[in-house]
Amino acid sequence: MGLFKKREYIRITPSQSEKKESTQAKPFVPDGAWEKCPSCHKPLHKKELGAERTCHNCGYGFRIAASRRLKLIVDEDSFEAWDTDIAFRNPIDFPDYEDKVQKMKDKLEMDEAVITGRGKINGHEVVIGVMDSRFIMGSMSSVVGEKITRAFEKALELELPVIMFTASGGARMQEGILSLMQMAKISGAVKKHSEAGLFYITVLTDPTTGGVTASFGMQGDIILAEPQTMIGFAGRRVIEQTIRQKLPDDFQKAEFLLDRGFIDKIVPRNELRSTLGLLLEMHQKRG
Ligand SMILES: [Zn+2]
Repeated sequence: MGLFKKREYIRITPSQSEKKESTQAKPFVPDGAWEKCPSCHKPLHKKELGAERTCHNCGYGFRIAASRRLKLIVDEDSFEAWDTDIAFRNPIDFPDYEDKVQKMKDKLEMDEAVITGRGKINGHEVVIGVMDSRFIMGSMSSVVGEKITRAFEKALELELPVIMFTASGGARMQEGILSLMQMAKISGAVKKHSEAGLFYITVLTDPTTGGVTASFGMQGDIILAEPQTMIGFAGRRVIEQTIRQKLPDDFQKAEFLLDRGFIDKIVPRNELRSTLGLLLEMHQKRG
């Protein structure tokens, strides 16, 4: 059976001079010193990104840990985390789900994909929620939903404004319908907070998609976004296949949505803290 016989190849080894040439042509680049901007694709030296991790070419803010975000935003030593011990559940017995969550908890030293709590920005007290896209794509589990809901309920009790930094792929598939229910649950708490005349700001960071966009992401009194952030509901490919049309290149980018009135302002990461401080000052309750 000649058909299945292993083919024979001839090995060609480069001559000494060729070897020398190929090593000379490549400049020495230390491993991991460069990163490519996911938005404008420009190579950036890690040092250029700075503590804020932003691209100096297009302004894109790299995805960062929730803890780093808090450090950039809140006044030093002012943050107190809430509800870090809500029990995990695997409501539809999804295989290996518990293991996956446990691994994430150990690796990232977080209890879930969101940190909530109370802190100060330029001296103004505020309830803050920060999602972390590294934790199963910042997806909405029952625990994430519960933590955000409780944050709004406590803010209502304490008469404090809320700032939510969103970063999410949407629903947590492993929890089925219970993940989708978080949208309604959080929205209900947002509504009560709003009816009490309290202030809510959302800061959309890369990526904000799915159920988060469809609920509390877009319910802020003021909606801010970081430059070049991907914001949408369904993915680009799904929409293109459904409507059978090619979408513009900047579709689902913060700049595209700003032009169409979906968001109020695009704020570079290094200006976020002062912008939020100013907004809180302008909207504080007096008397
Ligand atoms: Zn860039």
